[in-house]
Amino acid sequence: MLTYKMLIDGQWADAALGETFETRNPYTGDVWAAIPKGTKEDAERAVEAAHKAFTSGTWPKLTASDRGHLLRRLGDLIAENAERLARIEVTDNGKLINEMLFQLKYIPQWYHYFGGLADKIEGAVIPIDKPETFNYTRNEPLGVCVGITPWNSPLLLLSYKLAPALAAGNTFVAKPSEFTSASTLEFAKLVEQAGFPPGVFNVVTGFGADVGETLTTHKHVAKIAFTGSEGTGRKIGELAARNFKKVTLELGGKSPHIVFADAEIDNAVNGVISGIFAATGQTCIAGSRLLVESKIHDQVLEKVIALAKTARMGDPLSTSTQVGPVTTPPQLEKILGYIDIAKGEGAECLLGGARPSNSELGNGWFVEPTIFAGVRNSMRIAQEEVFGPVLAVIPFDTEEEAIHIANDTNYGLAAGFWTQDMRRMLRVSAAIQAGTVWVNTYRTISYMSPLGGYKHSGIGRENGMASIQNYLQTKSVMISTAESVANPFIMR
Ligand code: NAD
Repeated sequence: MLTYKMLIDGQWADAALGETFETRNPYTGDVWAAIPKGTKEDAERAVEAAHKAFTSGTWPKLTASDRGHLLRRLGDLIAENAERLARIEVTDNGKLINEMLFQLKYIPQWYHYFGGLADKIEGAVIPIDKPETFNYTRNEPLGVCVGITPWNSPLLLLSYKLAPALAAGNTFVAKPSEFTSASTLEFAKLVEQAGFPPGVFNVVTGFGADVGETLTTHKHVAKIAFTGSEGTGRKIGELAARNFKKVTLELGGKSPHIVFADAEIDNAVNGVISGIFAATGQTCIAGSRLLVESKIHDQVLEKVIALAKTARMGDPLSTSTQVGPVTTPPQLEKILGYIDIAKGEGAECLLGGARPSNSELGNGWFVEPTIFAGVRNSMRIAQEEVFGPVLAVIPFDTEEEAIHIANDTNYGLAAGFWTQDMRRMLRVSAAIQAGTVWVNTYRTISYMSPLGGYKHSGIGRENGMASIQNYLQTKSVMISTAESVANPFIMR
């Protein structure tokens, strides 16, 4: 069993109280690593270290080009270590090695892209309407930024925050999920190796109510970038608002995936299956509501079920596995609970609906790919985020009705639809209330394109050039060039 330490102020440390907690492998159920159980004291130490690194030492003196260079070096180190980091994430969260390897090989792009942006942060000279006044703006870093991440894609979701934060000149404290802390601690070794000064990047492991809330409320924290559930996001937003801290919140979803009758059906079916069963449904962008035009409803459903039946469940470290376990025992219970709720609401379970009986799956936390038909959009199974391999199928008759159902939810993270009609592509994309809309594809994400939620799915956008503004604040400087200053008591 491995025993990890946290990185605070350039030192590898145990928790102040010396306690640890266990992290378990979702496929075997075995404990494989001990993680320091940080508390308030550790979180405060990390923020103070980040504050010191922001205000003194070498980091604030580096040129923007030097910062960019460090980020690009970090990107290269991630690429060199991609396979090792991917295996750690799979061991911790049970997602498929194919997917995590793809993610880890892609993550360096965030550091190359934002590293390239570091020395393109510019101000403006404004010809303001006051004579003899020279006015210019500076875009300055905020200070200490905190990144709080969930368990489904720990390093990808950290990179959405860390790369722009460091490019802008901030310092950072990361708090990974208590279920998947190991990869962030391994990643911290690469940050050190890349040559970032001590205290610029710190990791505190521990639980949300303790470490998370201390980080959210500490007076030296300027910004919290959070990805996780709606409930935690609300709490963080409330706490941050009390002290006027800036926040980016990337929360949950109940994304509609619409198949119109004019779609290329086989392509749509592939998209629908990948939209819900990839990562065993544990993605915020999961296309968990399948809206199908009535005239093709039975045909699409038949094909979706047939394809879902072929999914091979097994060891997520094996490249031939297609559906892995879910990440945590509470998540397993939550998914099974929603399956019961859906049955109780009268939805018809056409596939799955239970833990698999296959003995080869051993002690893994598996749930069968599950499909419910006959769902009404008002049902809980259509309104609440399950975060598991559960698809709710809802028929519709007209484009207007499809848009109405798609938007009739508190969430608005993502949506997808399948059609061959160009006018419909533009019409429906505009009408859907979601931060990302995919047409004839699903789940495409890029470091260059903004990602974030409408409505309860969050506040702000990550990725893309504009996201660096989340980590900057603008100062307006006015310099008088006048020879004399008028007596203020003599009105002009
Ligand atoms: P969660 O909200 O339970 O936990 C996320 C993180 O918040 C963890 O690190 C946790 O320790 C911390 N936390 C918990 N309570 C806290 C508190 N009071 N103060 C500060 N921090 C606290 O979420 P989860 O179960 O780990 O992740 C699943 C959720 O994440 C789903 O709702 C999913 O939709 C969402 N998610 C969203 C996106 C996105 O980009 N929008 C991406 C992935 C996951």
